[in-house]
Parts: sequence; structure tokens; C-alpha cells
Amino acid sequence: MNVPLFDITRQYNSFKEEMLNAIDQVIASGQVILGPEVRKLETDIAYYVGVKEGIGVANGSDALYIALDAMGIKEGDYVITTPYSFFATVSCITRLGAIPIFADIDPVTYNIDLNQVELIMNNHPQKDKIKAIIPVHLFGQTVDLEKLEGLRTQYGIQILEDCAQSIGSCWIKSDGSIIKSASVGDAATFSFYPTKNLGGYGDGGMIVTSNPEIAKKTRIIAKHGSTKKYIHEMVGINSRLDELQAAILNVKFKRLQDYIEKRKVIAHQYAQLFKEYNLEEYIQYPEPKNDNTHVYHQYVVRIKKGNRDNLRQHLTEQGIGTSIYYPKPLHLQPCFEHLGYQEGDLPIAEKACYETLALPIFPELEEKEIEYIVKNVKQELVF
Ligand SMILES: *Cc1c(COP(=O)(O)O)cnc(C)c1O
Repeated sequence: MNVPLFDITRQYNSFKEEMLNAIDQVIASGQVILGPEVRKLETDIAYYVGVKEGIGVANGSDALYIALDAMGIKEGDYVITTPYSFFATVSCITRLGAIPIFADIDPVTYNIDLNQVELIMNNHPQKDKIKAIIPVHLFGQTVDLEKLEGLRTQYGIQILEDCAQSIGSCWIKSDGSIIKSASVGDAATFSFYPTKNLGGYGDGGMIVTSNPEIAKKTRIIAKHGSTKKYIHEMVGINSRLDELQAAILNVKFKRLQDYIEKRKVIAHQYAQLFKEYNLEEYIQYPEPKNDNTHVYHQYVVRIKKGNRDNLRQHLTEQGIGTSIYYPKPLHLQPCFEHLGYQEGDLPIAEKACYETLALPIFPELEEKEIEYIVKNVKQELVF
């Protein structure tokens, strides 16, 4: 049996006609740059997460860079982030001439450890120059948003939420109220890369914010720093969400909650099978949840007993796609050697890089495929 890590083709038939119609309308209208489809997606996503404005841009990496620039981060500023994420989470900092400070992660959620963040805020030699925190809701699991709000209030620090993997994820506050990821930060960013939970058929990204100043600056930076045509108040970049991608995403956005529900069912099935096969001492897996605090963008397990790379090899031989998110932590990347981090500085993130493996997850993954995967995990780890 062949089970891919991700398969974008399986869902196409479920919306083919609607999507082709939407694409046809854009092309027939001739409005192919920043038209009504982009505006609709901006409005709908801002409303969905509970913020005032959305600004479509070319991809999730640009979204981070533009948002951080619009928040006023500049050369010599310090920004705290996680060492365990996709590269774009940190390159947005260094591309602005700012300096990243990495805080180690939580060993269960793999998210940035907010207690470590607080220690840095209190003790770092350059603590007065720390201007922002970039948390990532990794694999679709929400960082404690209430605690994050608390840090902002207490330290007067700006927050940029990297929500590339977490659209639709929530946090339940201690008073029982539910808020979405992307609603707490001064700004937050999404990616519509095809593999993401809301993925297009090409690149796309968005910045959301309730701060009118940040929103205004974001639009200017994304348009080459110009407010009037051919008059440039600052140096920006050209970064637009494509009208065709927006039309595609508007069709898929209606189905987002359904996709999230399907991912949750798959996470339950995995957990159930790990228990049935007595794999609990071998595998650390995400706790299945009935709420939306985890939207399972990736299904990442830790191999507690056994060798991760041997398991990966075995699964590949059996036709099962896997991946490693991430094989090298950000603080040990060759381009950041000058920052002076050493192996062992952030041991929890480093350990995760050696021990974790992403198993297939996407809404159309079938139960018999999940069974086949877990059976093969057992075959390699136990026998
Ligand atoms: C995908 C991703 C990005 C970048 O998005 P692109 O659209 O690929 O540029 C940024 N941060 C995280 C955590 C991501 O997973």
C-alpha cells in the first residue's frame, strides 16, 4: 500500500466545478490583480479570527517580514522566538537587521516555552532592547494565548503570531471564553502554501491586525512603500496575494472547519491505535482533543524507545511517506553561526530534532491507511 505524507489531489473532485467557475469568473472579468476575491478573503478571514483587518500578500514568509517591519522592528532591536520552526519565522527578524534570541521549547507541545521567554525578558543582558516576541502555534497547536496576553501587558512588548500552521486553532481562557490564534498579537500571519490547512494551488499569505497604524503601514510596505502612484515614502517590496489564488481560497475557506474536523478524527484514530497496539511506551503522540486547541496541521510523534531514522527508513520501504519537522534547529543553522549559539544551548529543541517524525495527515486520509501505518510502526519498533 502507498500512503503519501500529503495528497492535494484527493479533494479536488469535491469542489471541482465550483472552483473552476470561480477561476473562470476572475479571468473573464479581467480583474486579475487585487480585485474583489482578495478583498473578500481579507474581510472573511479577519472576521473569522476576530480582528479588524486582513491584508493579503504573496506568501507566509513575506507576511512575517512585512508585519514585523510595520510593527517598527529595526536594526539593533532584539526579538524573541522559537528555535524549532520553519526558517521564515526567524529570517524575518534578521532581514530587518534585528537580532533573534531563541527561547527553548516545551517537550510535549514543541511550542515556545513562555516561562523561558519570561526568564529572558528578566535576565538577558540586552533586555531593554527586546521589542517583540514571535510565537509559532506549531503543528496547529495553540500557544497559551492568555499567558501571551499577560506577557504583553506586563512587559509592554509587541507580539507577532506566526499562524502559518494554525488557522482556526483556539485557546480556552480561564473564564471559559474561547479566542482564536491570530487574535491576540499586535499582528498575526497566515500562509496559504498548498500543504497548509487552508492551502491554495500556489503561494499566498495574509497579515491580520486590529491596529489601524500597523494595517496602514503593512499595505504601504507591500506596495513598494508607496501611498500615491510612483511616490515612495519608504522602501518596501512588491507582495500581493494573487486574485486567482484568492478565488481558489474563497472556495476552500467555506470547507475549512470540515477539514479541521476530519483532521481531529484522524488524530483520534492514530491515538486509539497506538493504545490498541500497546505502543505508548515507544511513541509520544499528541493528546487527542475534542476542542479546537489543536487543528493537527502536522501529526508529529516522538520515538521514545527505538531509532527514529530506522523507523523512517522502514516506513519508506513500506510505501509510507514521512517527514522530519525540523531536522536542524534554527539556532544551529550555518547562517546564524555569528550569533554564537552552541550545540547544547537549547537541549529540548535539539532533542526534538533527533527524535520526532511527522506521519501522514490530511483530511482525506482513510482509516485503513492509518491502520497500515500504525501496524508498520509496531513492526519496526517492537519486533
Ligand atoms: C509555511 C510556514 C511559513 C512560511 O509560509 P510560506 O507561505 O511558505 O512562505 C512560515 N512559518 C511557518 C511556521 C510555516 O510553517
